[in-house]
Amino acid sequence: MLTVKHLTKKYKKTIANNNISFSVQNGEVAILAGPNGAGKSTAIKSIAGLLRFEGEIFIDKYPNKTVEAKKRFGYIPEFPTPFDMLTVYEHLEFVGRAYRLTDWQSRADKLLERMELTDKAKKLGKELSKGMQQKLSICCALLPQPGVVMFDEPFIGLDPHAIKELKEMILEMRANGTSVLISTHMLDSVNELWDKCLIMKDGVIVAERSKTEIESTGENLEDLFFKITENKTSAEV
Ligand code: ATP
Repeated sequence: MLTVKHLTKKYKKTIANNNISFSVQNGEVAILAGPNGAGKSTAIKSIAGLLRFEGEIFIDKYPNKTVEAKKRFGYIPEFPTPFDMLTVYEHLEFVGRAYRLTDWQSRADKLLERMELTDKAKKLGKELSKGMQQKLSICCALLPQPGVVMFDEPFIGLDPHAIKELKEMILEMRANGTSVLISTHMLDSVNELWDKCLIMKDGVIVAERSKTEIESTGENLEDLFFKITENKTSAEV
């Protein structure tokens, strides 16, 4: 489970996140959406432990910067940065050893196969295309089977096969009780995935809705997004 309590992040005079609280339950897929500059990346980087912030963030019951939290957390950034001089397979070996995983090889092989990277296993990080880097980042983050997984714009740059496969993987994670947080502008790309959406604007969460709540009003995520962020429906835009 991911728990964010009173997250506040200031960059000098800009309050990028202003006292944000939310959680993503086990077996729940939450979408983090919002217009440019709303504060999504700041929240994502804070959760990933890459920024100093005020407030508290827990991965299960562990503060996010602790080793116990990091063991349970997988992060797939929008722009992954593989090691130039490690091969694809060596990246997975690195994760397998760092996390002291047992039997990681068969799982690594399966992940590479699903992301169509098997024949790229010996390619160096610096030789990978943007999409291949993204696929490798997904394989590395998911190898330890983390209980909380966070994606930043996961579908931009992936080919149609990888998009389909990743969607299946997200649904499998949800079925296995993983908490999944996806930050995205591509609202239609996550239609069949999400359980809860968090809409940010001006550094705060301005709406939090379950899929059932939205469906009961006959709306969709895009309608809600425009209504909340611009006070319009998508048909009016
Ligand atoms: P986008 O959808 O455009 O990626 P976002 O929702 O991810 O936007 P953030 O990148 O979190 O938004 O930015 C939130 C606010 O914080 C904005 O006003 C932005 O200008 C500001 N900001 C972000 N990073 C920095 C930084 N390193 N220094 C100063 N201000 C920053």
